[in-house]
Amino acid sequence: MCEEPTCFCSSGTRGRRRFLKAGFVAVAAGIAGSSLLARTARADALTQVQRDSMTPEQVIEMMKSGNERFRKGERKNRNYLREQKASANGQYPAAVLLSCIDSRAPAEVIMDLGIGDIFNCRVAGNIENEDILGSMEFACKLAGAKLILVMGHTACGAVKGAIANAQLGNLTGLLAKIQPAVQATAYGGERSANNYSFVDAVARKNVELTARNIRKDSPVLAKLETDGAIKIAGAMYNLETGAVEFFV
Ligand SMILES: [Zn+2]
Repeated sequence: MCEEPTCFCSSGTRGRRRFLKAGFVAVAAGIAGSSLLARTARADALTQVQRDSMTPEQVIEMMKSGNERFRKGERKNRNYLREQKASANGQYPAAVLLSCIDSRAPAEVIMDLGIGDIFNCRVAGNIENEDILGSMEFACKLAGAKLILVMGHTACGAVKGAIANAQLGNLTGLLAKIQPAVQATAYGGERSANNYSFVDAVARKNVELTARNIRKDSPVLAKLETDGAIKIAGAMYNLETGAVEFFV
């Protein structure tokens, strides 16, 4: 049982002590710098010391270098089983990602991240709502994540559906949340779902508006950002090139 009243995880102080005693943590606190983390292979999951020593900008750098490895066909020499065991009694993710459900945009794969590195919110069109905001507030305020990254992607089916005014059951209401981005996108050419240039422009605007809405609709997260504890940033993943473009 967790002993911390605000903690929703299955771990606790006692569990972590046992976990530390067991010697699963390979990187000692004294050498747990984020630059070291970014450069070297990590055998186990992020520790609290490692995560807490990182700035939001360093978390972004970790993601950027991971995406560079992915694009080169490289990856860290990670051991998922050791990451699973190291994180079983506690998690210290560095970021919370809001991304689309698209099967071709799995965050951990395209940014070479491991078990315990990030929280994931996935919903078609990467829109925010109360439940997503609640998840993010837990991730940042209670669990200590340093970065909220809203990641859209090219050729997004949800964005195409919003542009085409698609109607289907509960999907209709979800797509309505993307409509403001369709309206707000300044575009000189053909504004249709068949024009991928327009679709991608709307997806980019949708990321911007979602990041803005997160600040507007969550005073908790807005204050964390104002205080410098977290950063709220946007990104676009290009399905064709494999590149994640960060808007910072
Ligand atoms: Zn999508």
